[in-house]
Amino acid sequence: MSEQNDTIFGKIIRGEIPSEKVYEDDDVLAFKDVNPAAPVHILVIPKKHIVNAFDAGEEDAQLLGKLMLTAAQVAREQGLEDDGFRLVVNNGAAVGQSVFHLHVHVLGGRAFAWPPG
Ligand code: AMP
Repeated sequence: MSEQNDTIFGKIIRGEIPSEKVYEDDDVLAFKDVNPAAPVHILVIPKKHIVNAFDAGEEDAQLLGKLMLTAAQVAREQGLEDDGFRLVVNNGAAVGQSVFHLHVHVLGGRAFAWPPG
């Protein structure tokens, strides 16, 4: 294997540490955030190790689209269709990225301020 993906999400993908999965297929995985910032807080990740949006290429276009579609499906299944939901992707430590494997936060179930903090 050319790279290890030693991030915590790499370990979750490989089943080395547990997670509360809500959706999984060959390309993506969705699981509950261990430290939820809202009543609904799900993380949707690609199984391919992409560090963040800067690391994605043209070859990832379909996979990136699938992350968005999966996020919407997860939000629907979590009962957020009426009230809506927020997607957040932190790209870089300076703006709050703490796990260096691309992830889409699906947040809902409460009011959100704008602009975000
Ligand atoms: P970010 O700060 O955007 O990189 O988001 C990383 C998110 O991963 C945070 O919201 C953490 O609470 C969450 N997180 C860290 N470790 C785990 C884990 N083992 N299972 C689920 N979520 C996790």
